[in-house]
Amino acid sequence: MTEEWDAGRLDSDLENAGFDTLAVRAGQRRGPEAEHGEALFLTSSYVFRSAADAAACFAGEAKGNVYSRYMNPTVRTFEERMAALEGAEQAVATASGMAAIMAMIMSLCSAGDHVLVSRSVFGATVSLFDKYFKRFGLEYGYVELTDLGGWKAACKPNTRLFFVESPSNPLAQLVDIRGLAGIAREQGALLAVDNCFCTPALQKPLELGADLIIHSATKYIDGQGRCLGGLVAGRREHMQEVVGFLRTAGPTLSPFNAWVFLKGLETLRLRMQAHCASAQYLAEWLEAQPEVEHVYYAGLPSHPQHELARTQQKAFGAVVSFEVRGDRAAAWRFIDATRLMSITANLGDSKTTITHPATTTHGRLSPETRATAGIKENLIRLAIGLEEVEDLQVDLQRGLSALSL
Ligand SMILES: *Cc1c(COP(=O)(O)O)cnc(C)c1O
Repeated sequence: MTEEWDAGRLDSDLENAGFDTLAVRAGQRRGPEAEHGEALFLTSSYVFRSAADAAACFAGEAKGNVYSRYMNPTVRTFEERMAALEGAEQAVATASGMAAIMAMIMSLCSAGDHVLVSRSVFGATVSLFDKYFKRFGLEYGYVELTDLGGWKAACKPNTRLFFVESPSNPLAQLVDIRGLAGIAREQGALLAVDNCFCTPALQKPLELGADLIIHSATKYIDGQGRCLGGLVAGRREHMQEVVGFLRTAGPTLSPFNAWVFLKGLETLRLRMQAHCASAQYLAEWLEAQPEVEHVYYAGLPSHPQHELARTQQKAFGAVVSFEVRGDRAAAWRFIDATRLMSITANLGDSKTTITHPATTTHGRLSPETRATAGIKENLIRLAIGLEEVEDLQVDLQRGLSALSL
């Protein structure tokens, strides 16, 4: 009954709604018993009216919740809101970003399929392919993110999926998503984009021709470093496969985490705008410092893909990486001299973080692989948070001063 009361109102009211309205309202259930906020259904299972009702729900003949590995109203609200923001037919929530990548590959690929992966993806994504998918007969290869010709050349008759992150971490390289989507389509392959760094507030890969979106909701969707979660979004036919895998295999999202993410989403665009404004200011300032050799930030006109970033993204994100004059010792001196920033590898938090990629996030790679990836010993990565930008600048100045000691 609540179901009917809801549907009409939601569909008609949000049809032409803007991003911020969707971020606050999409997926919200209204009904005589609903709360003003999103109800947290912290329950593993549900009760039925009768034995016959239970049988009908289990058989899928009647609508109804069965068990929280199958469905949960709070998780469903989060999925519907994310689908609305990404412009996807459907979104499916997972226990973490890595669970989203695993669920996508397990449900859409088989042994003997070939997958092309950008060389610049999250470290655990590389391990997932190299240590696990390989054991189950999945063929795959790595391609330079920015090189469209390389993607085309690496295709095989059995290429089923392309997987990229754009912009990449930590060097802020981009791929022309529209161009890559065209190559994937010619090949009959699907294009999946990990949209973690931009979020739908800055970039909508499905509108650019991608087929699938991956998220680590742990980052900007939460935005305050509290919960792990992830998401796959795309067309209904593909999402049905992902749902099937998750229900059976189990890495579904906790309703509590979904409820936290719903609160995070309400301020997503405002937060991203503030993150990006501070990142732009600090990137420009760092670039002007004599102790800094190079700054990697797509918002700088000196970035080789600045124009692509301007057309593909609404803003340039909050990750700013730079090389200081000197070696690893210099980079460590810089990091240790900061007082405000958190020395941690996480990102997408209101607290600014500072990281030495060569010895943390990329520390397990061989020196040769690290060199190919362009991760130098004097590279530092910042993920700019929401503190006063002047205070962050003072903190970075402490780092610069430590270089000349
Ligand atoms: C953090 C991250 C992941 C993994 O997400 P978890 O929630 O930590 O499992 C995947 N991709 C990118 C780009 C990330 O930054």
